[in-house]
Amino acid sequence: MTETYEIAVFEGDGIGPEITTPTIALLKQLAAASTGYDLRFVTLPAGAGHYARTGESLPAESLRVAAAADAILLSAMGLPDVRYPDGTEISPQIELRMAFDLFAGIRPVSVRQGQAGPLTLPEGREIDFVLVRESTEGLFYSMGTGVVSETEARETLRITREISEKLFRFSFDLARSRRQAGRGPGRVTCVDKANVFRAFAFFRGIFDEIATEYPDLAAEHAYVDATALWMVQKPWDFDVLVTENMFGDILSDLGAGLMGGLGLAPSADIGLKQAVFQPCHGSAPDIAGQGVANPHAMILSAAMMLDWLGLKHDNAALRTDGVRLREAVEAVIASGDCLTRDLGGTAGTDAAAGAVQRVLRTAR
Ligand code: ATP
Ligand code: MG
Repeated sequence: MTETYEIAVFEGDGIGPEITTPTIALLKQLAAASTGYDLRFVTLPAGAGHYARTGESLPAESLRVAAAADAILLSAMGLPDVRYPDGTEISPQIELRMAFDLFAGIRPVSVRQGQAGPLTLPEGREIDFVLVRESTEGLFYSMGTGVVSETEARETLRITREISEKLFRFSFDLARSRRQAGRGPGRVTCVDKANVFRAFAFFRGIFDEIATEYPDLAAEHAYVDATALWMVQKPWDFDVLVTENMFGDILSDLGAGLMGGLGLAPSADIGLKQAVFQPCHGSAPDIAGQGVANPHAMILSAAMMLDWLGLKHDNAALRTDGVRLREAVEAVIASGDCLTRDLGGTAGTDAAAGAVQRVLRTAR
């Protein structure tokens, strides 16, 4: 019997619904053509628009359904002029991260030959690495409580053995599956500042312990400052990078920069049970409702979701379709046709997604 996976969908705010609709259409097209799995979608209310209408940003029922779903697909939430009474932004995506212990933030950085980006790739080289950002502790631990007096502010950097072990095992497993897929040599680099901070020496020590469980993979260390330099000078050398929350926050924007912008940058927040897949960009209210948003970051996030479901359930059909969806987007971008405005073209959202649909049809 074909397994059916339930996908909880948060369409969100701004351009969210515009990029969600064609993405789900692509997923439905893939699932309909596959005998290996089926998908069922449940759209859930949450976000700034929902808060403005009801006074609730993430209804308990949405959280409950999302918790029970096999995966969560989220577009973007938040609007500049809708805020909580204390002035902070509406960001249910951060609540989901905390509610489901989504400790691993995944940012793949990929630039193919022919794809526009700020770097000129040397002949035969492509950028294809993954940054794994710890997302629940690190220097974000004391968020909101850092000022201790009128004359002093202090933040706490928290690294725990429990979360670090999970984070490193996840990173080594990822490197192994990338190697199996022919996307990397099977190497994990622990990015830290162990020469200055004892907390990072502790982090690195746990990394070295976990590395011994993976004798078939290479384990390396790098300081975060040097990593920033290499991300610009030789990003094609990286495979899997794993780092603390704050360092990961900064390096992932550098990664999006390497790809030439936000419109192509997907992400995932992964825990032991649940995972949220969403583009790196926000709700882009400045272009919402015009049909011009780039859907590719969202489509690539959906491809990551298929990859993850396929690995989790050991389902080859899901894994194959994850790869096909990603490669279809890459083919559309490399062809230079149907590019949206942010990539220098004139195509609208539906035309860009339609081009992916055609590639999938003809490639079959
Ligand atoms: P957030 O705080 O939610 O991350 P932000 O203020 O960083 O939001 P975004 O919503 O990500 O901002 O938008 C930043 C800029 O990038 C805007 O000019 C927006 O129009 C543009 N942008 C973001 N996503 C897309 C997209 N998918 N297609 C085209 N342009 C986009
Ligand atoms: Mg932003």
